[in-house]
Formats: sequence, C-alpha cells, structure tokens
Amino acid sequence: MKYTPYGHQSISNEDIQAVVEVLRSDYLTTGPKIEEFERAVSEYTGAKYAVAIANGTAALHAACVAAGIGQGDEVIVTPNTFVASANCVLYCKGTPVFADIDSDTYNISPSEIRKKITNKTKAIVGVDFSGQPCEWDEIKDIAKEYGLITIEDAAHSLGADYKGKKVGTIADMTTLSFHPVKHITTGEGGMILTDSKEYYEALLMFRSHGITRDKQKLTKNDGPWYYEQLDLGYNYRITDIQCALGISQLKRLDKFVEKRRSLAFRYDKAFADLENIVTPTQRKGCHNSYHLYVIQVKNKDRRQVFDALHKAGIGVNVHYIPVYTQPYYREHGYREVNCSNAWEYYTRAISLPLYPDLTYEEQDYVIEKVRDAVK
Ligand SMILES: *Cc1c(COP(=O)(O)O)cnc(C)c1O
Repeated sequence: MKYTPYGHQSISNEDIQAVVEVLRSDYLTTGPKIEEFERAVSEYTGAKYAVAIANGTAALHAACVAAGIGQGDEVIVTPNTFVASANCVLYCKGTPVFADIDSDTYNISPSEIRKKITNKTKAIVGVDFSGQPCEWDEIKDIAKEYGLITIEDAAHSLGADYKGKKVGTIADMTTLSFHPVKHITTGEGGMILTDSKEYYEALLMFRSHGITRDKQKLTKNDGPWYYEQLDLGYNYRITDIQCALGISQLKRLDKFVEKRRSLAFRYDKAFADLENIVTPTQRKGCHNSYHLYVIQVKNKDRRQVFDALHKAGIGVNVHYIPVYTQPYYREHGYREVNCSNAWEYYTRAISLPLYPDLTYEEQDYVIEKVRDAVK
C-alpha cells in the first residue's frame, strides 16, 4: 500500500546540482553561500537583516539572547506549538508563561496575553500556527504599551502576509525553520530576520562563539589575525552546502505556497458539508501560507479517525500537544497550568497531508478516507 505522509520536502534536479557545486568548491562552511542565502531571504521578505543559523530552534535561542532575556524575565508564549518555541526561553534561564489560544485561529489570543502580563514580562513569542499570522497589530499594541519585545516564530508561515506586510517584517525579530517539512528546506537550518542593526550584530556574534573581528568592537588589536570573544556564544553555524540548497529552494517558494493554498482550498470544499469536521478559519486581511492543514473532529473519537487513516496508509499527525503538559514542564512548575482552549483543540485536531508534491489524485484518496472515517 502507498504511504502518504503529512509533510514532505520537494527536491528538484536544480537543488541537487546546487549542492554538488558547493561540494566541488573551496568552502563547505563559512563561505559565500551563507550571505547569498541571507540576502535572498531578506529580499523575499523585505526584512533588512537576516542571519542564517543551524536550525529553527537555534534561531529562537539566538532571538531570545539578542532580546536580552535572562533570569527573572517572563516571556509570554503559546501552548499550541512545538516545544522549541518555549524551550528557547528556558535556555536563557527565563520563564515561559503560557497564554491560551483563540478557538477559531488556534493562535495565541491577544486578550489572554494581556491577562498574563506582570512587571517581569519582557517579551512575547507568537507562533503563526499552520501558516496563519497571529493578530500582530493587537500584539504589537500590547508590546508597545508595556515596552515588550516581539518575537515571531514563523517556522510555519514563510510566504504568508499580514495586512499587506510579508512575514519577516512584522515583529521585532522573526525566526524561520528549514526542516524538510517546512516551506523550504536546507535539511536542518534556520534564520532570524530583523530590521534592527543592534539585534543583527548580537545575532551574528551569538552564532559563532560570541567572537567578533569587527575593529570597532575590539577592546585592543594585536594584528590582522586578532579576534575577541566578547560574549558567550555557540557554534550555531549553518554550512554552505545547506545554504546552496536553501537558495535553490527559495526560487520555488511562491510555487510551493500556491500549491499548498490550492490543496487547502480543495480540502475546505471537500469537507464543507460535514458537520463532524471543523475546517480551519481564515482571518480576513492575511494570507495563510499553509504549513499545516488541521481539521478538528467533532462527535467522533479522534483516536478512531486517526487509526483508520493510518490503516489506509495516510500518515496523519497531531499538532500540537500543549507544551505545558509535557512531563519536563510539569516537573518544573507547570503542573497547575491549564489553557482550556488549547487543550480542547488538541483533543480534536488531526493534521492532513499537505505538501507541494502531493497530487490532486493522492489528495482525493485522502479526502475519501477522511469522509469515510468521520461518517
Ligand atoms: C519546526 C519548528 C521549530 C523548530 O525548528 P527546527 O528547525 O526543527 O529546530 C520551532 N517552532 C515551530 C513552530 C516549528 O514548527
């Protein structure tokens, strides 16, 4: 039986050629492909600065460090995300504070954010869940009112826009992931986008051990070989091999997004008559780039539907288990946390296959099996 996963990379001969060329070049890492990739994503999104980094988690870590998050700082995060969006706060010894989601968009709710603000709050991490941007105007108003930094985890939303602005130019810092299931891939990889020179310079140093060769930053200068470590950073560099793949993939991003939207539209139509399925709500004024297509199953056991689809060779998945319910979080002070909308949503959610190379015939098979399973 054919197996249809929920997400999959799309690799062309040009992608393969681009990687092979780097393998034959002088630089496998710290070479020219890094900046070329950064420039290409900057141009695509309109963000002033871009820093390519080892993966999306490292991008979030770097953003939290550049934001100056440390011990005693609270950062408001959504529970409906991959653990990395909250873990990045813990890496910096800050405290993630979970604010519940809106039941219609599954994104962090601005009014719930307001309820969680204290005099220790330093930042807000919003995740554009499934590719639909958060209500950023409201979130930025809150941030302005309380002097908070906004970090947009856009691992799902490259190619999306919000009220005429492309993702990458909305929050103070925006992070991307290039994991194979995301819009474009570098195998592993990530990026931080910002318009702030100050953040940009902090991000560059953090990516490479906290080291700089910038003459204006050195405390002294022993000669042309000289560098200084001014902060504690990591080796979070990405390779030229990966960036060459990213550059090649980015050329097809608009096509990828177009196909994802077309598949999502077909799912919407196919399930419109079913009262046991809730399809995603699209907010006006923004364009979802559809990393995920999530249905909620009503009046039916989600587990039964999930199992039936797997039995039919359809690799459906569930996004996400609310982060605060993870044993690590429960053991570290989150036992009493309850975000009821996120929990309710989690008990019903199923992510259906969605990726550029999914054919309409394959999708029709998925649709047929989903309709059977929820009947
Ligand atoms: C994929 C993902 C990440 C982590 O990205 P990696 O590149 O796998 O480290 C972070 N946040 C969200 C919402 C993601 O989907």
